[in-house]
Amino acid sequence: MSASTPTKHLASCIFCKIIAGEIPSFTLLSNDKVHAFMDIGPIAKNHALVIPKYHAPRFTDTPDEYAAEILPAAKKVAKAIGCDEYNILQNNGRNAHQVVDHVHFHIIPKESDSDDSGLGIGWPTQGLSMDQIKEEYEKVKSRM
Ligand code: 5GP
Ligand code: ZN
Repeated sequence: MSASTPTKHLASCIFCKIIAGEIPSFTLLSNDKVHAFMDIGPIAKNHALVIPKYHAPRFTDTPDEYAAEILPAAKKVAKAIGCDEYNILQNNGRNAHQVVDHVHFHIIPKESDSDDSGLGIGWPTQGLSMDQIKEEYEKVKSRM
């Protein structure tokens, strides 16, 4: 890791403890930026997690050096889970179902539609008009 790479660790964080080896994990991949391991409360067989080795609660707080390593690791894990249908999920905030406040990406196999394992997704289409979408677009664009 270069001298300019930011680091951050929170002693009370369960995922920082996993990174530090203070509590065990079923490690799939570990390098200087990311750690991938099996989820111990899986919603499907082979449910795995990829986390940056930097303590940040929200994805938007993750330094780019770490964020850049997440997707290649997630891709490697997704290839290894033995299921070619899967969801990649990253929750931010309690309303968005985040429980552990250290950024993590879920890799969740979706075996079939007929059992209840894997991610269930609501997709509440809001029926916005093109004018409404354009109005929202202008606001988002102005913040980019
Ligand atoms: P969230 O709802 O925050 O997106 O998901 C947190 C995930 O972390 C859950 O799927 C939960 O099972 C998993 N998890 C929580 N504590 C531990 C732990 O100590 N070890 C592992 N391997 N997974 C954990
Ligand atoms: Zn942490």
